[in-house]
Amino acid sequence: MGNVIQEGILWQSVLGEIELSISRASFVTWFKNTHLIKHKDGVVVVGVPNVFIKQQLERKFNDLIVDTLKKNGLSEVIVEYKIQAVDKDRTRQKEEIIILSDQPAQRQRSRVSSLSHQYRQGLNERYTFDNFIVGAGNELAYAACQAIVASPGKKYNPLFLYGGVGIGKTHLIQAVGNAVLKKNPDARIVYASTEQFVQEFVDALRFKKNTDFAGFYRGADVLIVDDVQFLAGKEKIQEEFFHTFNALHQANKQIIISSDKPPREIPTLEERLRSRFVWGMSIDMQNPDFETRCAIIQTKAEIHGLELTSDVTEYLANYVQTNIRELEGALNQLLAFCEMRELEPTLEVTTSLLGGNKSRPKHASPRQVIEKTARYFQISVEDIIGSKRDKDIVVPRQIAMYILRSELHLSFPKIARELGKKDHTTAIHSIEKIEKEIVLDSSIKTAIAKIKERLYV
Ligand code: ADP
Ligand code: MG
Repeated sequence: MGNVIQEGILWQSVLGEIELSISRASFVTWFKNTHLIKHKDGVVVVGVPNVFIKQQLERKFNDLIVDTLKKNGLSEVIVEYKIQAVDKDRTRQKEEIIILSDQPAQRQRSRVSSLSHQYRQGLNERYTFDNFIVGAGNELAYAACQAIVASPGKKYNPLFLYGGVGIGKTHLIQAVGNAVLKKNPDARIVYASTEQFVQEFVDALRFKKNTDFAGFYRGADVLIVDDVQFLAGKEKIQEEFFHTFNALHQANKQIIISSDKPPREIPTLEERLRSRFVWGMSIDMQNPDFETRCAIIQTKAEIHGLELTSDVTEYLANYVQTNIRELEGALNQLLAFCEMRELEPTLEVTTSLLGGNKSRPKHASPRQVIEKTARYFQISVEDIIGSKRDKDIVVPRQIAMYILRSELHLSFPKIARELGKKDHTTAIHSIEKIEKEIVLDSSIKTAIAKIKERLYV
């Protein structure tokens, strides 16, 4: 197996993960035209199109890149960024990026948003129905999505899909957009993460372009809004969303929404939005069962031209039990590892790479979450579950609550009890606060990612 292929797979898998962890606009701006030049002696050299991107990757994204490389089997690496010319057909995009990068951060973002203001924005062709494996946990959601493609706006409107992290929500709702577009290339499809919706709304207010913003979203034939839980606590934006929703719904345009929890559990979601979200159909996407996980692994391995033996497939399916993104991550890690060392992916290689015979714990306990959070912030467990109000302690406490919610799906009262609080509204407010800050503050985002990672080793 040649070097180029190895590096291609590795970088592809790194980009794939990064794409899912930052906003679409950031990904397109900073990562889309990067490639791996070489990886040798613990140094990974990444080719970038220009000096602005180089600086941004060095300053802002280096940790994320190193962490993601680590997840893909490369620990202890140093990453260097090298400016390298890009293909001709990429030049136009490069120019846009240079224009953007010349401006202060806030302006940049608004330029990205307005540039991407084209219908069909945000759709990623890699998410299709063809490469979505249907199994016990997702068949209902799959069927509803197919019905929508057959007649958008008619049957389930809105469709509200909810379920845990990495379970295929984004994949499915993107597949709807892609399939509708294939049937009708003129269809106006808008896919937006809630983060993006929020950002564009803020920009529209700031630059007094409110009508553009409203008109754009209200002009959609199919509006797909991902991770709507992030609307929690944002009153102004909820109001805007409410009007967009009504305008589209009245015009029989299709609305598809995803969330990590059902509408009734999204804290501080206005009642009128909550009630509209359940007007159509809401579907709970469940964890994939063992057979589905095996099928996913086999299919994804085949895409890389590899057939895995059943013992390796089953090992992987037991290794990651709920999150399909992590399942893919483990598989990619194995494939990259084998390619780099020119090994066959046998059970022995797999177990030695992924942690010997000790399989990964199915669930972390609440206590582990609290301990790992305390350790990450170098404070004591007593402090984190105590009543001190210092900022150095309050923020870690809020983060622990957030992780208890997002990873362990504990109820608010239970979260409050775990942290020695009597009143569960404290938990609700803390979690909301972190949900907001995770978007704005990259150190919080990194902390959460690192703690989660340490939970499962
Ligand atoms: P979510 O939005 O629920 O967090 P994603 O849709 O981002 O999850 O899925 C995570 C990863 O797992 C994606 O790469 C996606 O393509 C893949 N995936 C999820 N479910 C399936 C499935 N049923 N078949 C194939 N791939 C899947
Ligand atoms: Mg998603």
